[in-house]
Amino acid sequence: MQTYKMFIDGQWQDAAAGETFASYNPFTGEAWAAIPKGKKEDAERAIVAAQKAFTSGPWPKLTASDRGHLLRRLGDLIAENAERLAKIEVVDNGKLINEMLFQLKYIPQWYYYFGGLADKIEGAVIPIDKPETFNYTRHEPLGVCVGITAWNSPLLLLSYKLAPALAAGNTFVAKPSEFTSVSTLELAKLVEQAGFPPGVFNVVTGFGADVGETLTTHEHVAKIAFTGSEATGRKIGEVAARSFKKVTLELGGKSPHIVFADAEIDNAVNGVISGIFAATGQTCIAGSRLLIERKIHDQFLEKVIALARTARMGDPLLTSTQVGPVTTTQQLDKILGYIDIAKKEGAECVFGGGRPTEPEFSKGWFVEPTIFSSVRNDMRIAQEEVFGPVLAVIPFETDEEAIQIANDSRYGLAAGFWTQDMRRILRMSAAIQAGTVWVNTYRTISYMSPLGGYKHSGIGRENGLASIQNYLQTKSVMISTASSVANPFIMR
Ligand code: NAD
Repeated sequence: MQTYKMFIDGQWQDAAAGETFASYNPFTGEAWAAIPKGKKEDAERAIVAAQKAFTSGPWPKLTASDRGHLLRRLGDLIAENAERLAKIEVVDNGKLINEMLFQLKYIPQWYYYFGGLADKIEGAVIPIDKPETFNYTRHEPLGVCVGITAWNSPLLLLSYKLAPALAAGNTFVAKPSEFTSVSTLELAKLVEQAGFPPGVFNVVTGFGADVGETLTTHEHVAKIAFTGSEATGRKIGEVAARSFKKVTLELGGKSPHIVFADAEIDNAVNGVISGIFAATGQTCIAGSRLLIERKIHDQFLEKVIALARTARMGDPLLTSTQVGPVTTTQQLDKILGYIDIAKKEGAECVFGGGRPTEPEFSKGWFVEPTIFSSVRNDMRIAQEEVFGPVLAVIPFETDEEAIQIANDSRYGLAAGFWTQDMRRILRMSAAIQAGTVWVNTYRTISYMSPLGGYKHSGIGRENGLASIQNYLQTKSVMISTASSVANPFIMR
């Protein structure tokens, strides 16, 4: 067992109450790390440290270029440690080593991009209509920002938040998911090594009910950046509103993946498989509703099943593995529960549909890639997020029907479609209600491009130039150059 400490005010600390909880390896089902079980008191200590670092000490005195330099140094350290961090993520959350190696080698880009942006946050001089008045704007940091993340891509989801927050001059308290705390604690070691002043970045590990609630209700927290479920997002939105905290919410999805008869079929089959079975379906952007134009429905579905049949399940640390375990036993039960629901609703299970029975999978939390056909869009399997390798297949006849089915969802995180018709590409891209639309590709994410949800999939956008605004507030400064003050009883 590895034993970890929290990182608060530049110090490595146990939880105040001295308690720990276990982190499990989803492939072996065994506990592998002891994590401090933080509570209210620990969260409060971190907020006080972050508040102190925001208002005094070296951090507020740094130039924006100095902040950028620190962020780029952190990016370099992540790049140097990419392989080690990727292996930790695999052991802690069961995702494939290939996927996590790619992610960890890519994550430094967030720190380079936003590090570069730190000294380009410029205000404006406004040629104001008031005589003898000089008016300019300043974009100032908010203060203490909190980042609360889900378990599926811990360091990637954190970097969406941390890089712009620090670039803008804020301080930060991170609360990773209780299922995958280790990589965020490992990142804190690199933050320390990069030379960030104490209190600028803090990590409090623990559970949502105590650490999460304290972080989202404390009066000294200015901003909450959250990635997780719709239910928790709603709770956070409600409590944050009471103290007027700024909030960004990246929530769930039930993304439509649409295949037209004129698509390049083999590319589309690959895209569909990557949309739902990569990362064992545990991605917010999973293309979990497959809409197939009726005239190619049977032939296309057959090809999807044929490719799914070749997917190699196994040890996520092996580069040959294509489908790993799911991250938690709760998630395993939830997925199996949805498979039952779909069967009871009358959907036809045409592939997979349970846990693999081979002895090599007996310890790990595996579920077979599963495909349901004859799904109606009003079934729960088409409306609710499973967050697992379960695909719901729905036929359609016309473009209008595809749009109607795609948009008949309370979610709107992402969508994809496959066609070679340029007019259709432009029409569909405009008509689909989703924060990201992929055309003839799927699951492409960049630090440069906004990511976020329509409808119940969230509020705000992460990534891209504009996302720095999530961590800034604007001040307008007016300076009079007049030698006398006019009538005090009227507005100037
Ligand atoms: P979750 O909502 O259960 O937990 C997310 C985080 O919130 C955890 O750190 C948890 O401890 C914390 N939390 C729980 N209750 C809290 C409370 N009352 N106050 C404050 N914090 C609290 O979600 P999960 O199961 O970890 O993650 C899966 C969900 O995340 C899925 O719905 C998925 O779609 C979503 N997700 C969205 C994106 C995106 O970019 N939109 C990315 C990844 C995952």
